[in-house]
Amino acid sequence: MKLARTIEEVRDAVRTARMHGASIGFVPTMGFLHEGHLSLVDVARDAGANFVVVSIFVNPRQFGPNEDFTRYPRDEERDSALLEGANVDLLFLPDVDTMYPRGATTAISVGGVAAPLEGARRPGHFDGVATVVAKLFNIVQPDVAAFGRKDAQQCAVIERLVRDLDLPLRLVFGETIREHDGLAKSSRNSYLDASERAKAPVLHRALRAGEEAITHGIAEVAGIERLMHRVVEEEGGVEVDYLAVVDPSTFEAPADFERELLLAGAVKLGRTRLIDNIRVPRSA
Ligand code: AMP
Repeated sequence: MKLARTIEEVRDAVRTARMHGASIGFVPTMGFLHEGHLSLVDVARDAGANFVVVSIFVNPRQFGPNEDFTRYPRDEERDSALLEGANVDLLFLPDVDTMYPRGATTAISVGGVAAPLEGARRPGHFDGVATVVAKLFNIVQPDVAAFGRKDAQQCAVIERLVRDLDLPLRLVFGETIREHDGLAKSSRNSYLDASERAKAPVLHRALRAGEEAITHGIAEVAGIERLMHRVVEEEGGVEVDYLAVVDPSTFEAPADFERELLLAGAVKLGRTRLIDNIRVPRSA
C-alpha cells in the first residue's frame, strides 16, 4: 500500500494506476477504522474498482463549535495496518493545511435532504461534508466511491451533490455493519464507558421496535415515534435527540405508508452522540 500526504502524490499514483488500465475506487473516512469502513473497500471492489484509495481526514468543517473535532479518535498506525491487510492500494492522509490552505473560503451549500434531522441539529455539518467530499473527489477522481448507509442522510446528500454538480463518478452504498448486540459500529463508540456501552444498543432496539410496528400494520407516524421513544426511556440514562419515521427520499415525514420508509435516530449517552437508522421496505 502506498501512502500519500500531498495532493500531487495522490494524483501521480492514480494517474499511473489509470495508465495501467485500473478502475479507481474511493472510500473517504475520518479514520479510527472498524469493519464498517473496511466493508466499503469490498463494496468498491465489488463495483468494479481494482485500485482502491482510502482517505483519512478528520474534516474540521463538518464539526460544530461545541462538537468533538479535537478529541475525535485518531490512530494512524493501526489504521494503516488495517488498510494494508485489506489490500488497499493507496492511503491518502492529508493534513488540514493541505485540504484547506490559507485563504480557502469557497464552500458548497447543500439544501433539501440536508435540512431535516442531522442537518437541523448540526448546522453547517452537511455543507462541510459536501465541501470536503467534492474536494476529495476532485483530488482522487475515482470511477466509483463507496459510502455507508449507517449515515443514511449523508448518502442522500452525496447523491444530490453528485447529480447537482454533474460529478463524473458512480456512487455505491454499503449496509451498516453492527456489533453482535446490534450497535452500529462507529469510531465514536470508543468514547463510551462500560455502562454507556451496555446501554448503547437501545438505539437499534428502538428502531427495530418501530419496524416491527410498521410490519404489523401500524401506519401512524406519531404512534411509531412514541413507541421508539418509550423503548429508549425504559432503558434509562439515554437522551433522545430524535427518533423519526421519514420518507428516505426527503427525510421528512412520509405522506403515506405505501412506500419504503426510513427509521432514523440519534441519542446521547453522556457526551457521546450516536446515530443509526434502518430501512423498512414497502409494505407487502
Ligand atoms: P466516518 O469515518 O465515520 O466518516 O465514516 C466513513 C464511511 O464509513 C462513511 O461512508 C460511513 O457511512 C461509513 N461507515 C461508518 N460506520 C459504518 C458502519 N457501521 N457500517 C457501514 N459503513 C459505515
